[in-house]
Amino acid sequence: MEIQTKRSASINEVRSEQGTPAVGAGNMQSAPVLVNRHHPVNEEARELENRLEPVGLYPDIRVLDSGIRLDRTCLKQLNALLEAVGGKEDIVVVSGYRDLAEQTQIYADSLRDNGEAYTARFVALPGCSEHHTGLAVDVGAAAGGLDFIAPEFPDDGVCGAFKAAAAEFGFVQRYQAHKQHLTGISCEPWHFRYVGASHAARMEAFDLCLEEYIEWLQEAEGSSGQGDSSHGN
Ligand SMILES: [Zn+2]
Repeated sequence: MEIQTKRSASINEVRSEQGTPAVGAGNMQSAPVLVNRHHPVNEEARELENRLEPVGLYPDIRVLDSGIRLDRTCLKQLNALLEAVGGKEDIVVVSGYRDLAEQTQIYADSLRDNGEAYTARFVALPGCSEHHTGLAVDVGAAAGGLDFIAPEFPDDGVCGAFKAAAAEFGFVQRYQAHKQHLTGISCEPWHFRYVGASHAARMEAFDLCLEEYIEWLQEAEGSSGQGDSSHGN
């Protein structure tokens, strides 16, 4: 599928290109959950647990740790994406769902090992990590060092192919260099967030990070009484 990249495209055109709405689909897919330092995760742990599946459900996906779990739709789409780009040999799932205790430990370990500046750039505060949703996955090149916090994920080769096809399968590279002032996190080529294919296509076409996109959705909702929301440039 060809992802539309022209910024001048109307939102409706982009929307109508999407064949299959993903999770929580209505006429308009429900908005992706925003989690950042200003928006801690607020889903009940028990509800969340029900959505999780071990990555090992797909035995040919390589994992850094056999205990890694992801939201089931996110995992299914990740598997499809890895298959589509032929990445199952060379791409390793390094991190998925984390509970609060785990993120607290990671944060403390990073403070101790890497210092405050590095930790602030790459490790979300406990309670404010997208990994708490099960919808975020860190991937690394098997040939790289597979560092837990910052795995290598180059722009070329199979990793580049993964990145190029990600939106089609509902994933966005969540933290990009030119959006750092909005996300509060430095560029993370390895961290992909599942938002569903139609949201991902729009975010990519209009170069919007999730913070911008959520705001845009709210504005569009407020101004589109008649369903003809052809603003957007
Ligand atoms: Zn991550």
